[in-house]
Amino acid sequence: MGRIQVLTEGVANQIAAGEVVERPASVCKELIENSLDAGATQVRIELSRGGRSLVKVSDNGCGMNRDDAMLAFERHATSKLRSASDLLAIATLGFRGEALPSIASVSRVTLRTRAEDEESGTVVEIHGGRMRDVQDAALAPGTSVAVRNLFFNVPARRKFLRTERTELSHAVRLVTHYSLAHLGKSFQLRTERGALLGVTPVSTLRERVYQVFGGDSLDRLVEIEPVPERTLRLGGFVSEPQAQRSNRNSIYVFVNRRLVRDSLIQKAISRAYENLMPKGAFPFALLFLEIPPEEVDVNVHPAKTEVRFRNPSQVFELVRSAIRGRLVAAKPASGLPQPGQVAQREALGTSVAGGPLPGSLGAQRPPGTGAVPVSRRLEFPAGSEFQESAPPPSVGEVSGPDMEPAGVAPPSSATRPDALHSRSPLVDRQPASLGNLGGLRLLGQLHDSFIVAAGDDGVWIIDQHVAHERILFEKVLEARLHDKAAMQRLLAPIVLTLTPGQLVAFDELAEEFRGNGFEIEPFGGRTVAIKSTPAELSPQHVESLIYELLDDSREGGRGLTLGQLRKRMAATIACHAAIKVNMPLPTEKMRWLLEELARTECPMSCPHGRPIALRYGTRDILKAFHRL
Ligand code: ADP
Ligand code: MG
Repeated sequence: MGRIQVLTEGVANQIAAGEVVERPASVCKELIENSLDAGATQVRIELSRGGRSLVKVSDNGCGMNRDDAMLAFERHATSKLRSASDLLAIATLGFRGEALPSIASVSRVTLRTRAEDEESGTVVEIHGGRMRDVQDAALAPGTSVAVRNLFFNVPARRKFLRTERTELSHAVRLVTHYSLAHLGKSFQLRTERGALLGVTPVSTLRERVYQVFGGDSLDRLVEIEPVPERTLRLGGFVSEPQAQRSNRNSIYVFVNRRLVRDSLIQKAISRAYENLMPKGAFPFALLFLEIPPEEVDVNVHPAKTEVRFRNPSQVFELVRSAIRGRLVAAKPASGLPQPGQVAQREALGTSVAGGPLPGSLGAQRPPGTGAVPVSRRLEFPAGSEFQESAPPPSVGEVSGPDMEPAGVAPPSSATRPDALHSRSPLVDRQPASLGNLGGLRLLGQLHDSFIVAAGDDGVWIIDQHVAHERILFEKVLEARLHDKAAMQRLLAPIVLTLTPGQLVAFDELAEEFRGNGFEIEPFGGRTVAIKSTPAELSPQHVESLIYELLDDSREGGRGLTLGQLRKRMAATIACHAAIKVNMPLPTEKMRWLLEELARTECPMSCPHGRPIALRYGTRDILKAFHRL
């Protein structure tokens, strides 16, 4: 016998399952798409143990007759595609005829279905790809597919599944996406915990955003008015520039109502916010691009989250200019940071991981959809950037908030915003002996943001925000460890509406919230009431802090050990509670900061890894003045 054999159907299906079925959320996706393709107006999703033991999707769509119900599990059996030329104009969500056989090959599936014009319905049982049973049954029109024990027969795949909560949050996020894309349908999502999402048909995206994200968030979004450009149409909502997220979790892009993860569109969004948002920060965006099916290739990846555009530059420009146009129109020009400011902010290594700050942008209330306000927005007087060849700021015995850096180089057209980042011979980024910090003599404050101090070993410049962040971080972490978090009761509880995904994350973090001094109670539906917070935190920062923690835990926070989770929480609390930049500080406060910083375990870098202090070494100063 030759060595080449044609794979059996079952093996081929399992291989295909490797591409289509990654986790319970992918099962959910395929089943929901089938329901929508079947013209359903009601889609009900039930998950148990994060979808690992059950994903069940029921609909009131067209249903199947007995023959089709059995055929549906054959590989490449589809009612949606007849010839290869149809591929160029696909209007349905599914088309490969791969999903059901793939899913059925790695789980135990029960299909219940009845086409409207059939006398009775059909129940099909398939276990690990083997047809077990087919029966007639009295059923209402429509279809339900229950997928149990995913990967029960593929231990290697099962091992790659994450915790129930993680799997659940993937699935919940997915259902949320579909509910945003299909306004005319009702979606219900239930888990052991109860109803996580229930939306009724609406006619506008605005209403759906209200249903899913809550009323507050709408005030903080700008609507992209449909821009008809030749055959393309773009619509949706984006957040104002000051509402920022620390990750891409809040960017939802739909192409022909299909959720995609497309780098071209992501780039166009980033470009639209260029100079309005620091690098590393992301907006909330809910975008719908309608494009003729022949202009886009969705057949790039079996899971169909990637697309290829026939005319990428047209799509890029449409997305960029439509968002940019709205952002600029929505804001008075003077309220926008100038490009130079943004460059400085980046040059100084600040990022969105930082806390909210006072000032024209940061002082606004962050959107309720999980936004974090602009982090330290440094506003230097024009031309006062540090120069590569400039001497260190010569600072006298001043400690008032209005101290001007006398020795800073004058404005120059050659001013380089990245000067601080470059290798100035005078900046010694190496931590000097840490103990030295305690013996520093306070000289004053620079730009309301940096503490300048002198020591035997040179001149020190300390970032007041990150210094305080480090102090608070260690304090919060220590208190958590000993279960001694100081809490403060709010005068009035803060009520927040959570998205279904945030609600799942909230369950996961509840114990740590409590341990850090939060008292948060369910407040009906998807709202929670915050009654107490960590003592360090001022109430105005509570909302953005909670949303940031919930959103982070959905993406980056998976699989963290308890220790890592606690550090992350402590860092986030510290960041939100810390003194901001652009804030004049009284002398005593600066002294206090220096003393407390000297007492920390790690005074030289903030919990996010940024430097806290720069030192202009005495030796280097002497060298620069040719005295050595
Ligand atoms: P595809 O969606 O790519 O056609 P699937 O394997 O997902 O492939 O489904 C195979 C076929 O089963 C579909 O083409 C459709 O005819 C039928 N089908 C699947 N789910 C449903 C449903 N919920 N309602 C009606 N028909 C369905
Ligand atoms: Mg399908």
